[in-house]
Amino acid sequence: MASSNKKSPKKSGKKKKPVMISRPPGSEDDGPTGVVKDHKHCFNCGVSITPDKDVCSNKCQAEWDRMMKRKKMMTYIPYIGIGLVILFYMLVIYSQ
Ligand SMILES: [Zn+2]
Repeated sequence: MASSNKKSPKKSGKKKKPVMISRPPGSEDDGPTGVVKDHKHCFNCGVSITPDKDVCSNKCQAEWDRMMKRKKMMTYIPYIGIGLVILFYMLVIYSQ
């Protein structure tokens, strides 16, 4: 009995779509000489908001908080690594 292995043609059809950068019309940032009204940009999405706010909406606030939490965690990782190394060293030293 002979078994035949058929090779199926691989589909490698990866199509890259050109990234279209579209700017909303009439969105002017600070001009060279124009007087810019006191305003801020949403920390999360970057839309113009009033200076008494940090983000444009509750959704952005939640997303921003999540990102900051993650960022904080990322900053602690090296310290955790150093702590583990020191702990390992201590174990090695005291086990002798
Ligand atoms: Zn926003």
